[in-house]
Amino acid sequence: MFKKILIANRGEIALRIIRTCKEMGIRTVAVYSTADRDSLHVRFADEAVCIGPAQSSESYLNIPRIMAAVEITNADAVHPGYGFLAENASFAEICTEYGIKFIGPTADQIRQMGDKITAKETAQRANVPVVPGSDGLLSSFEEGLKLAVEIGYPIILKATAGGGGKGMRIVWNESEFETAWDSARREAGASFGNDGIYLEKYIEEPRHIEIQVAGDQFGTVAHLSERDCSIQRRHQKLVEESPSPFMTTELRDRMGEAAINCAKAINYEGVGTVEFLVDKYRNFYFMEMNTRIQVEHTVTEEVIDFDLIKEQIKIAAGIPISGQNYIPTLHAIECRINAEDVWNDFRPNAGKITSFHSPKGHGIRVDTHVYAGYAVPPFYDSMIAKLISKARTREEAITKMERALDEFIVEGINTTVPFHKALMKNEDFRKGNFHTGFLSNFDFGAIKRD
Ligand code: ADP
Repeated sequence: MFKKILIANRGEIALRIIRTCKEMGIRTVAVYSTADRDSLHVRFADEAVCIGPAQSSESYLNIPRIMAAVEITNADAVHPGYGFLAENASFAEICTEYGIKFIGPTADQIRQMGDKITAKETAQRANVPVVPGSDGLLSSFEEGLKLAVEIGYPIILKATAGGGGKGMRIVWNESEFETAWDSARREAGASFGNDGIYLEKYIEEPRHIEIQVAGDQFGTVAHLSERDCSIQRRHQKLVEESPSPFMTTELRDRMGEAAINCAKAINYEGVGTVEFLVDKYRNFYFMEMNTRIQVEHTVTEEVIDFDLIKEQIKIAAGIPISGQNYIPTLHAIECRINAEDVWNDFRPNAGKITSFHSPKGHGIRVDTHVYAGYAVPPFYDSMIAKLISKARTREEAITKMERALDEFIVEGINTTVPFHKALMKNEDFRKGNFHTGFLSNFDFGAIKRD
């Protein structure tokens, strides 16, 4: 087993990893930017190294500085968390060259699921259904126009390097194509330095359902059931739950098998997530595979009572997994609490938290790095906490969540708590009757101020 793990990340996920390491008797090294000096991950790690100024490119994304921190602290493994360098194949490669274990898949496995087009090809090779669309990148706007007619509108233009919903445009008819093409390319170029665009049939009113998988170094792969992440605003997840209210035993078996086949096709080692779109007839289509731990891993942990970070570390250390698939016996819901202003187009709202009280009690879990007096820096993503409720039924999990949201007090900055309160009251949400477009018709203006 590893003696010392350096965590190349910040915020709640850095803390989450430190917690498991402590339980496993592994020492931890936190790295931090000057903006994160007062962060809890710095305080709770055994050692901490400042790796640079606030900008991510100078700190959390700066590979030479992170490798220098590995060297001076003598860490024998690196946990990348999510975001930042978690899916950076070169970083995984550099760690290996230095004899440091990257806790995650190999560089080669990351590449085979890296950009979305390669990932789709990998899934097709594994006989997993994908959304009909272009064969790779579109070489020109005219090629796209022609293909859109063949496939039939609506279609969606997507950036191969995409993430966080960026570089994506839905096109309902031919007259909208050119504008959408231009703006998708511009956004993709600006966000990812890669303006490669491909085209897909736009699946109407789909659910986003993903399967958690784990594979070890000996070729054994298992699935740990699904998460429903259909509650999204502008393609960004706000609420996740497990099991999916739309799931059937038969669909879970089929999707679980497809996810395992995707992972097996690349000899996947580590924990990962295969994302699917599911239409109203319960046809499912591969979208992408995330080759890392995800923000929403917590709901899976709660419903199957399993520490996914521990599993990840054990797999990296060469310990075989049992190969058993896990089916949820409880229901869990996660609300992402972001420092954003729900009445102002969810504008990020950095600043000092003057008062903070986090909910507690039976069936409630809060993963957070913030506290009263903490200043949310404007440089990173705006998530400040994950609130998870767990109960025997979905109905009870919602009731518990409502109770917990009422107890959640954050003063000094705006958060998404009022949005979640309104969502939990929504009839369609309560009935499990929603799809990825659900929030585009949501009346955010009607959300009550506390
Ligand atoms: P990103 O990596 O930017 O998050 P994804 O490929 O994971 O992008 O897609 C994000 C979301 O966009 C999905 O959860 C879904 O809501 C929507 N989406 C993507 N592709 C399609 C499609 N072909 N049809 C309908 N919706 C889609």
